[in-house]
Amino acid sequence: MKILVAVKRVVDYNVKVRVKPDESDVDIGNVKMSMNPFDEIAVEEAVRLKEAGKATEVVVVSLGVKQCEETLRTALAMGADRAIHVETDEKLEPLAVAKLLKAVAETEQPQLLLLGKQAIDDDANQTAQMLAALMQLAQGTFTSKIELKADEVLVTREIDGGQEQLALKLPAVISTDLRLNEPRYIKLPNIMQAKKKPLEKKTVAELGVDISPRLVQLKVTEPAERAAGIRVGNVAELADRLHHEAKVI
Ligand code: AMP
Repeated sequence: MKILVAVKRVVDYNVKVRVKPDESDVDIGNVKMSMNPFDEIAVEEAVRLKEAGKATEVVVVSLGVKQCEETLRTALAMGADRAIHVETDEKLEPLAVAKLLKAVAETEQPQLLLLGKQAIDDDANQTAQMLAALMQLAQGTFTSKIELKADEVLVTREIDGGQEQLALKLPAVISTDLRLNEPRYIKLPNIMQAKKKPLEKKTVAELGVDISPRLVQLKVTEPAERAAGIRVGNVAELADRLHHEAKVI
């Protein structure tokens, strides 16, 4: 049972992103980058499945600039066995990512494909669904529990107002939600060991995928500044202000 986990290098979740002065994009120059938090959960889950004897190999894959190697090394330090880096400086849209992951999966033939439910930079929440569609595989999105059986995987999904349980035929695509697990803290010896684990390089050309963009990002803007709140003396004043000033009642 091989598990393929997709990990994206994104702006660290603690960083307050700034928009470029020309509003063309966010400014990621000199900003701390990390593994997308949902992908960290995906790696953790894959490693736990291996530790529990339910999976035999965990392969991590990242698509993007040279520095994705660091993200992959982090995943290797968490316990993944080997890494694949599809290096490109081009900006990748979810459809291009899904096509590239499909090409990698066709060679690797994993039984389980684990992705994050969304990348915290583009917030697209599209890649896992597109990958499942392109590969014509079952999908379980926003997963908070995974139980691997011989030829199927049981997933619990977080849905509005409750939970849904699905049995997916393997191979399957799963996207992780926050409550699936809490990723481990990486220790120094694991970082050292990770340096020796295999990291294979591939190119977009080798994979034969058209990654040309289909979207044009017109503008990126900061959220509107909120006006400062006010304190009211009593309920009557609140009702009066809501009626006469805010005009909402
Ligand atoms: P998105 O659809 O962009 O919100 O991303 C959902 C998930 O797709 C992420 O959590 C990753 O698991 C995967 N993914 C997206 N972009 C990449 C990338 N460049 N490299 C590897 N995995 C990616």
